[in-house]
Amino acid sequence: MNTHFWSDGIATLEPYVPGEQPRVANLVKLNTNENPYPPSPRVAPAMAQAAEHLRLYPDPQSLALRQAIAHYHAADGITPDQVFVGNGSDEVLAHAFRAFFVHGGLPLLMPDISYSFYQVYCQLYDIPAQTVALRPDWQIGVADYAAIGSESSAGVVIANPNAPTGVALPLAQVEALLQAFPQRVVLIDEAYVDFGGESAIALVNRYANLLVVHTLSKSRSLAGLRVGFAIGQPHLVQALTRVKDSFNSYPLDRLAQAGAQAAYEDVNYFTECTQAIVRTREQLNAQLRQRGFEVLPSATNFVFARHPDHAGADIFAALRVQGVLVRHFAKPRIAQFLRITIGTPEHSQALLDALDVFLASSN
Ligand code: PMP
Repeated sequence: MNTHFWSDGIATLEPYVPGEQPRVANLVKLNTNENPYPPSPRVAPAMAQAAEHLRLYPDPQSLALRQAIAHYHAADGITPDQVFVGNGSDEVLAHAFRAFFVHGGLPLLMPDISYSFYQVYCQLYDIPAQTVALRPDWQIGVADYAAIGSESSAGVVIANPNAPTGVALPLAQVEALLQAFPQRVVLIDEAYVDFGGESAIALVNRYANLLVVHTLSKSRSLAGLRVGFAIGQPHLVQALTRVKDSFNSYPLDRLAQAGAQAAYEDVNYFTECTQAIVRTREQLNAQLRQRGFEVLPSATNFVFARHPDHAGADIFAALRVQGVLVRHFAKPRIAQFLRITIGTPEHSQALLDALDVFLASSN
């Protein structure tokens, strides 16, 4: 092998492995936190109209979309120059890591159990990652971060609500974190916030070090379109734009801009879908508990649950055989758990039926 073609960092890079995207139909797919409902009916016509202009380059600044997002968050005083958009929040996170967390070898702080992409970006950009253990109650312990502090770190990234636990950190705790890191950017990844968390967007105009990242993949049913965004004060957005322009000055194509904008403008549809998912989640919670599961309090579109008598891997395999796909992480402290995306009530029933078959056969 010609190992001299790449650096040691690339040779040992471990890319993020997303949840399985199966090629067979008829699976009950509850493994990657997609929305079971289609996007707003306004999305496809808006994209069809945009398709008539594919001959032309898209708006490099995605201004109409950024205006629609700012308008949605107007109650928090958000203006379009505080919105940065990218190809899925994964790309937005990549730009943010590149822009804010490269600090001469200082480590980026993050929970030990969280979205595993954070560690991949750290490797990619040569940022040491320092994990901080979740508290015994699965909460992010803000005091543990504060004890490390601004001086000895490159910043903080957390998911709130956290993934894969689903547990939310109250806004007062997020504020304490911001106050403990005045010299560093604190990135709050709110991929799941629309299902019950408290958004830190309300704090953006009070904290110069706060960057909040959102995605349209979950609550807006647009995982296939690849749109995410960050909200922060204009100086942070400008730094992200400098990094972005160096990679790709046209991050969003015409279809993505038009579809995402239409989704943001349809507030009623969004509210109905998210409320339906929250209702289904609470019903599923109760039914899992009846079957002996411990379910962590979820503020997301998934639940994180374990059965005291059965290994997570065994339940995962038994469900898979019956055509129900959930997520299992073979990691310390969470190997007993399954992460189950909330689908429709029919999906819940299929999951429960498959679980009952497994529980009856293993008694
Ligand atoms: N953050 C978290 C916490 C996630 O779970 C996900 C979805 N896997 C993402 C970000 C990325 O979402 P997307 O790139 O689809 O916007």
